[in-house]
Amino acid sequence: MYMVELAGREGKPDTMHYIIIGNGVAGTTAALNIRKTDAAGDITVLTDESHPFSAG
Ligand SMILES: Cc1cc2nc3c(=O)[nH]c(=O)nc-3n(C[C@H](O)[C@H](O)[C@H](O)COP(=O)(O)OP(=O)(O)OC[C@H]3O[C@@H](n4cnc5c(N)ncnc54)[C@H](O)[C@@H]3O)c2cc1C
Repeated sequence: MYMVELAGREGKPDTMHYIIIGNGVAGTTAALNIRKTDAAGDITVLTDESHPFSAG
């Protein structure tokens, strides 16, 4: 997983932008846990899968 901070983004200068590569269990869990601790940051998940992760 890769996370990058883009400081000084236009319109959201004080928030994080998280980039997650892969939407398997690790990437999906990362996105969910980031959202629990950061309600305002942007989360972008990049994947080469054609369908979203499904736990069941
Ligand atoms: C045949 C098989 C059976 C298994 N059975 C079980 C089981 O019964 N129970 C269990 O707990 N575990 C099982 N596992 C293991 C389990 O699948 C893995 O431990 C788990 O999927 C790892 O999750 P991950 O998110 O780290 O990686 P992955 O699930 O591999 O997810 C990685 C994601 O990143 C994406 N990705 C990779 N490279 C790029 C790229 N360059 N650009 C964009 N996207 C990219 C991939 O498309 C994928 O969606 C099994 C594994 C296999 C192979």
